[in-house]
Amino acid sequence: MSKIAIIGAGMAGLAAAGRLAARGVASVIFEKSRGFGGRMATRRTGDLQFDHGAQFFTARGPDFFAQVSRWREAGVVDEWATGSYVGAPGMSAPARAMAPRHACVTQAQVSRLVRAESGWSVCDESGEISAPGNGSYDSVVLAVPAPQAIPLAASAGARMPELAHVEYAPCIALMLAFPLAIHGPLENWLKPDDRTIAWMARNSSKPGRPADAQTWVVHARPDWSREHLEITADDLRAPLLAAFRAVTGILTEPTHVSAHRWRYALVEQAVGVPCLFDADAMVGACGDWCLGPRVESAYDSGCAMADTLLKSLA
Ligand SMILES: Cc1cc2nc3c(=O)[nH]c(=O)nc-3n(C[C@H](O)[C@H](O)[C@H](O)COP(=O)(O)OP(=O)(O)OC[C@H]3O[C@@H](n4cnc5c(N)ncnc54)[C@H](O)[C@@H]3O)c2cc1C
Repeated sequence: MSKIAIIGAGMAGLAAAGRLAARGVASVIFEKSRGFGGRMATRRTGDLQFDHGAQFFTARGPDFFAQVSRWREAGVVDEWATGSYVGAPGMSAPARAMAPRHACVTQAQVSRLVRAESGWSVCDESGEISAPGNGSYDSVVLAVPAPQAIPLAASAGARMPELAHVEYAPCIALMLAFPLAIHGPLENWLKPDDRTIAWMARNSSKPGRPADAQTWVVHARPDWSREHLEITADDLRAPLLAAFRAVTGILTEPTHVSAHRWRYALVEQAVGVPCLFDADAMVGACGDWCLGPRVESAYDSGCAMADTLLKSLA
């Protein structure tokens, strides 16, 4: 029976694993962080939680719309505004629901792929990563941002020159909490005409979020983020908080302030094909960088990757 290694438990990797499993093909997912969802992220700190990556998603195509309907039935996605959906109780909820826990290795940062006679081995800096099963794979899927896929593809000798053409905008996110009763904008989200801030959302207005604090997530503009990307998270808080105050008029001292730097946040230049596959190496690659900067694009790319593999294995 064929066995696939998938590197990355974001929406693309999980969609690929789900589609393969539905066709009876087993996969093992290797993920460098502790949780699932990648940029569909939820940060929990004490009783607070923030969606500091993707804010919401839409469903334009029939496949993803059907998937969103299944998530809604399972109670892991809800509508926030008409036609825009969020994970519930946090943005990572649908990813956690999709993850085949018995076949996921977390906190495993893959650094190279090694070919043996029996198939591919997946390795970190100290050697082969132990995983369920015999640890040998017929094929490997790289479901990570394009710049992180480049060294992995190179280690496997897979030819994927398109990866080098992908471009991303970074994004610095500020997370704020206030007492519930403060006065501020009534909108659930704002896209201000501002030199620093691109977007801000009242996180606590999303369905299923803790109701005992007013929380905000602020995303800096791409140019501001690029300019400040190498500054420590501590030093990012003051200028972003000042910009938030100027836009919202909220002068109350926050009970929580933290910042996160997304180096590869939003795809600016996509490849324009649903996935990449080197049939000689049996190595594929997928992610939002194939089709565009959206959760739905990552899902579609993961499904296309699985279909390509299934054809090749057949
Ligand atoms: C700030 C921000 C705002 C956004 N807003 C929206 C929005 O409002 N609407 C929308 O539709 N989209 C939005 N997006 C984009 C959306 O989050 C992405 O398009 C989508 O989640 C990408 O999924 P992916 O699976 O392609 O990649 P990722 O989510 O990046 O998943 C890749 C996974 O691979 C793992 N990984 C990387 N390298 C390795 C390695 N060497 N070994 C093991 N694991 C590895 C990572 O930890 C990660 O879990 C936003 C993104 C950001 C950052």
